[in-house]
Amino acid sequence: MNDVKNTTKVPHLPTDIPFNGEQKQWLGGFLAGLHTRLLVKEEGVNNQQTATAVALKPLTIIYGSQTGNAQAVADDAQEMAKEHGLTVNVIDMDDANLQDLAKCERLLVVTSTYGEGEMPDNAQALWDDISSDGAPSFENSYYSVLALGDTNYDGFCTAGILWDERLQALGAQRIADRVDCDVDFEEPANQWINEALATIAQKGSSASGEQVSASQKKPVKSKFNRQNPLSAELITKKPLTQPNSSKETFHYEFSLEESGETYEAGDALNVVSTNRETLVNDLLALFNTSGEIVEPYKGESLTLKDIFTNILEIRTPSKDLIAELALRSGDEKLTSLVNDTNKEALNDFLWGKDTTDLLRLYPQAQFSVAEFIALSKPLAARAYSISSSIKHHKQQVHLTVANVRYKQNDREHHGVCSTFLADKAVVGDKINCFFSPNKSFSVPDNSNAPMIMVGPGTGIAPFRAFLEERVATKAEGDNWLFFGDRNSETDFLYQEEIETMQSTGLLTRLDLAFSRDQSEKIYVQDRMLENAKELFAWLERGAYFFICGDAYRMAKDVDKALHKIIEQQGGLSSQASQEYVNQLKKQKRYVRDVY
Ligand code: NAP
Repeated sequence: MNDVKNTTKVPHLPTDIPFNGEQKQWLGGFLAGLHTRLLVKEEGVNNQQTATAVALKPLTIIYGSQTGNAQAVADDAQEMAKEHGLTVNVIDMDDANLQDLAKCERLLVVTSTYGEGEMPDNAQALWDDISSDGAPSFENSYYSVLALGDTNYDGFCTAGILWDERLQALGAQRIADRVDCDVDFEEPANQWINEALATIAQKGSSASGEQVSASQKKPVKSKFNRQNPLSAELITKKPLTQPNSSKETFHYEFSLEESGETYEAGDALNVVSTNRETLVNDLLALFNTSGEIVEPYKGESLTLKDIFTNILEIRTPSKDLIAELALRSGDEKLTSLVNDTNKEALNDFLWGKDTTDLLRLYPQAQFSVAEFIALSKPLAARAYSISSSIKHHKQQVHLTVANVRYKQNDREHHGVCSTFLADKAVVGDKINCFFSPNKSFSVPDNSNAPMIMVGPGTGIAPFRAFLEERVATKAEGDNWLFFGDRNSETDFLYQEEIETMQSTGLLTRLDLAFSRDQSEKIYVQDRMLENAKELFAWLERGAYFFICGDAYRMAKDVDKALHKIIEQQGGLSSQASQEYVNQLKKQKRYVRDVY
């Protein structure tokens, strides 16, 4: 192999030249620098020659991503692959052709799981293809799968598991075990990348006639992340709901000054919070211990107060903790709920209960503090859809957050991050946070394309950002907003702004659904159905359809309404309307940001 080493030498200066010592030293340095530059240039030429002489092995990485994390991991793998002599194409599953994919000798799959075990939106069409009877053989492919998920949801990492099983069934050879990652995915994902790249680089031939589409341009990566968050000053905090409302939603503004950070409308901001003092004290009391007691945690000795306040998720019980509770308590009901494959009954039972509630319910389970720590998950940052456009609010990022508060079993319950921001954070505080890009949930590149936005409650957040973006970029496409909340008097979030957007014509259409203004509930999907003809006409002329907000009921019901509208207005069978929706998804014209 042509190994070009750096053989830079300081040029030799004749002793009889007419310069004094200092001048000679300077000149020596100058010439050395020049020589180095020339060498670097030569090396560049040699390296290029080496690159063409020793062909890099092609590697294809496909990703299925709902919120941008899987795409970010795929991008990281691409960067690291160069060190292994691999040349990489990162492909959105929606842009991947199955027949071409089957020709790839080296294939890595990175996919998240959406909702309760579903494929992410950009993965559904390719998954339908590969899971069909007519799928091609993958027996010439080496592969590995990285699955992203959240153990708090049913169907943890299901999408990745299905891809792994299917590729193996089609004859592909697994070169590294699948890794299933929980929300703190960075470390295991990096380990998987290292192992998978090192192993796959040893497999297969050097060049293969793979026809893979070119990688997209990558945005500049932020230097801030979970381990190294940005400290952003909270500059504005105000309620969006009226004091007599049945709920509380707040608006927050953070300064990005001097951080050099930027984001796109549609991205999310992850806020790093701490656990509430009363919750920490409840737990300490339950274990009959003091916050000053020191316990080992990942090689460090930390006080329990620190561990419970800053490090562990102590509000939502982990799946491992619940399973161990069932085992140790011997409680028949809990055991049967945990063992039931249908998780609905367990979810109903857990609804509204926090870790302290559960530990109190089964005192016979008896955990030591160390056991409890081992069974708990790290406190994850909470992701919120950004509600501002940086083009409109220079060096700022805004959030729209609904506060979670309720009383159950005689205990007040408080959402970790929403009430950290509402009750603890004050203007002037520095809040730790970092961005998550969401490239598919963004304002259409075509500024003339119509947008239909369905965002009840806090689902309004990214659409405020989209609309601000459209003003800032002078985009001329039509905009239709469906917004709803409980009561018009108290819960019309951003009312003034939205009404101004309507009166200036930025909002071509605005349809409101205040569910509790009348005895019968009226929801955003009812407004969609009332306007079915026009909505379908918008889709037919290329409109993008966006949903943001509650995943459990709202997003599913809005999806049903959309299918119904396409079926009825397009005169299509239910299968044909499904195909219509699949095409919208494939064209990135039907995108969801739901939680
Ligand atoms: P919300 O209060 O749950 O609901 C907003 C509106 O949607 C209400 O009018 C509600 O009506 C209606 N709705 C209820 N079921 C519906 C359905 N099946 N289809 C259509 N509309 C329906 O909304 P939110 O203020 O956005 O709160 C949502 C939840 O998401 C909160 O519990 C919050 O913790 C969580 N969350 C929020 C954020 C954030 O704040 N950015 C982030 C992550 C998670 P009714 O209530 O009258 O039935």
